[in-house]
Amino acid sequence: MKTVKIQGADGGVQVGKILCLGRNYAEHAKEMKSEVPTTPVVFLKPPSALLTNGEPIVRPAISHDMHHEVELIVLIGKNGKNVSAAKAREYVLGFGVGLDMTLRDVQAEAKKKGLPWSVAKGFDTSAPVSEIIPIGKFDGQNEMTIRCSVNGVVRQQTSTSKMIFSVEKIIEYVSGIFTLERGDVIFTGTPEGVGPVVPGDNIEAELAGFAKITHQVVAA
Ligand code: MG
Repeated sequence: MKTVKIQGADGGVQVGKILCLGRNYAEHAKEMKSEVPTTPVVFLKPPSALLTNGEPIVRPAISHDMHHEVELIVLIGKNGKNVSAAKAREYVLGFGVGLDMTLRDVQAEAKKKGLPWSVAKGFDTSAPVSEIIPIGKFDGQNEMTIRCSVNGVVRQQTSTSKMIFSVEKIIEYVSGIFTLERGDVIFTGTPEGVGPVVPGDNIEAELAGFAKITHQVVAA
């Protein structure tokens, strides 16, 4: 099983399910020509998709259009079911940055046919994540900045205050459906500016001031 590192701690936390939000920034929903949702759009990646800082992102042979999606990620620290938004932060171990790597051509085909996104979103190396910064380090901070650069050029940058569903609301919603367990990771959705990467590209994703990951794209 794969683990994620916690800043300042020995060892890591074993990762369970990876819950992902779709269309959680209005400008991204717009660029995808999708409606802005009134309830969260949720999909899953398997824990085997996880990648840690520096490991290569492998574009599978079934795709010729892989996109970067930078996202704030949340590591769940304790088990919970039906957690209220007011209590949600008690279940958060910490925050980091992740890349929801997406096979856009495979996803477009699935959308057209009404099929699941599991292949487009859950392939090996589709979930690069940073180390996790304990939640205590974010005291008094209501927004964070996430950023993604490709070959040194910034492609995505936003404040997490622009999320349609806040971290607290996401936890309330998903914990009503899936029991949250220590080690679960939530990808909270990407802002506008998604785009293709090709083998040889270098992607840098940042939770500004806290965490950074760098990955090279390689062909399968
Ligand atoms: Mg995403």
